[in-house]
Amino acid sequence: SLKGKTAIITGSNSGIGLGVARELARAGADVVLNSFTDREEDHALAAEIGKEFGVTARYIKADMSKGAECRALIEQAGRCDILVNNAGIQHVAAVDEFPIEKWDAIIAINLSSAFHTTAAALPMMRKAGWGRVVNIASAHGLTASPFKSAYVAAKHGVVGFTKTVALETAEEPITCNAICPGYVLTPLVEAQIPDQMKVHDMDRETVIREVMLTRQPSKEFATVEQLGGTTVFLCSDAAAQITGTTISVDGGWTAL
Ligand code: NAD
Repeated sequence: SLKGKTAIITGSNSGIGLGVARELARAGADVVLNSFTDREEDHALAAEIGKEFGVTARYIKADMSKGAECRALIEQAGRCDILVNNAGIQHVAAVDEFPIEKWDAIIAINLSSAFHTTAAALPMMRKAGWGRVVNIASAHGLTASPFKSAYVAAKHGVVGFTKTVALETAEEPITCNAICPGYVLTPLVEAQIPDQMKVHDMDRETVIREVMLTRQPSKEFATVEQLGGTTVFLCSDAAAQITGTTISVDGGWTAL
């Protein structure tokens, strides 16, 4: 059980982050949800999780595109036993047409935020004598696709950062790993479907099977619950010697 542990999950008011937060709470951890908005429904989401799983659940606003806010999130939480770096955005364009501000935002949110939060959290983990860093990378942290240069670069960067943090904490009861999901049906992916339908002149089901899941041999989306379960496993005693590595949850994508 993760009772007594505090988990901070960046970018967790939807999608994978929310799914991971729910599974950590189910396993007994107190959770801190985060995104860059500060709406009533963000705080309500935390309250619901707290009530459903009988844990302390808070929502803290912080913009993961800004280094100082990443660090402030950890400081404001006051304790961090489990850090899940999940916040991420996507943009699809050819390299020579890639908007500069999109490149900068993807590198900041998908990669640099993990540096800032980890730097702020490690001293807390050392003080507590236990820690887990779980970075939500991607199959695109291990392989590439055209038109996703910033995302692929950021996710490969996350995998490299994961290995370095693991080496720096190797002799301590702290681990750092990356989870590499294939396609998961979340708002981020849902938003890509209409564009793909237009580009390929296909209906929704055909786009999902023939375009989105062409590289996912299982032909099924991974679920946010499965990613939550993988995170809970990485926080378990069974995973204490797993560090500096990646776990693919991609229906066979990277085996191809
Ligand atoms: P999503 O859009 O549902 O969730 C992204 C989360 O990040 C949201 O909670 C959003 O509010 C938050 N976020 C965005 N910008 C932020 C900012 N500046 N500051 C703080 N929070 C911010 O997408 P998702 O699919 O759940 O993606 C979560 C992570 O999983 C991302 O890192 C993504 O790259 C990765 N991933 C997703 C898939 C997939 O198929 N969905 C596959 C591989 C990896």
